[in-house]
Amino acid sequence: MTAPALDARSRLRRITGLTPSGHLHVGNLLGAMAPIAAGQYDHDTVVFLADLHAMTVRHDPARVRANTLEQATLLLAAGVDPEVTLLYPQSQVPAHTELHYLLECVTGVGEAQRMIQYREKSARQRQVRLSLLTYPVLMAADILLHRIREVPVGDDQDQHVELARDLAIRFNQRYGDTFPVPVAVHPSAAARVMDLADPTSKMSKSAGSGAGTLFLLDPPDVLRRKVLRAVTDSGTTVAYDPVHRPGVANLLEILAACAGRSPADLATEFDSYGRLKAAVVDAVLARVTPIQARYAELSRDPAHVHGLLRAGAERARAATADTVRAARAAIGLLD
Ligand code: AMP
Repeated sequence: MTAPALDARSRLRRITGLTPSGHLHVGNLLGAMAPIAAGQYDHDTVVFLADLHAMTVRHDPARVRANTLEQATLLLAAGVDPEVTLLYPQSQVPAHTELHYLLECVTGVGEAQRMIQYREKSARQRQVRLSLLTYPVLMAADILLHRIREVPVGDDQDQHVELARDLAIRFNQRYGDTFPVPVAVHPSAAARVMDLADPTSKMSKSAGSGAGTLFLLDPPDVLRRKVLRAVTDSGTTVAYDPVHRPGVANLLEILAACAGRSPADLATEFDSYGRLKAAVVDAVLARVTPIQARYAELSRDPAHVHGLLRAGAERARAATADTVRAARAAIGLLD
């Protein structure tokens, strides 16, 4: 058994995993979902619901299952086309976990323990799951399974891509060329949306009360209220200064991402925080309301969405079979 030629599938392929640990928000939309929908006809695109990653901390089984379907439905509502994009739940493609195990066999315990996110997250918990320690290896499997060469990430994920890179190199050196070696890339235009109540932290699914998180399924009046209550500062003029005025900069960035313009340019068009906030409310509602309407339609038939996910998983199993077969053979397993 030989590995698929490393340059046989050289077309740039993109991968995004969304963890069904909570509800999707405007950060997910502007930072991931909208760019996926916009680029899916030009790139091979893989989007998986990272349900296995949602179980590395204490979780509620019913919530993970519900969130997985909700997130998939929102991705479809936001324009992800399951005919061209490989959209599936990670757990329905056992190759992820199979490759995870094979990669654990080239990972040092110390290497996993050095991951900053593991150290930070485990310090906040009393009972730490072993899967929290090993999830960066599962992430490496997610990437290598699809033979991804460039992984677009925020700075907080650099170390994980570095691990995927190290594991690919080590596996290839020990057992023969099997995986393309991925690199992290930092798209300069990628939106990074901050929490409206604490603009020094990223908007996230799990932030405290949710007061600073614009959930995609929040009713319009709730979205409006959250934007109007966004933390700014005591200044009065609108300027784009992420370091000294992170709250205002975040509002400008949200508006910029919705309008496809630059935040610094937009800053010159507003003479008060009130007017800026009103414009952000309009822009967010213009983006989110059609998604909510489509979501409502799609949710009338959850079996249809579930069927699309099953079909996506079947295609993903077929698309990744050669890579897993090659890795199994290289490492010494009988076929
Ligand atoms: P997660 O919410 O961590 O499961 O991430 C799913 C996708 O959304 C990833 O591609 C993240 O980079 C992206 N994402 C998550 N939070 C934000 C945010 N606040 N701003 C921009 N992109 C985000």
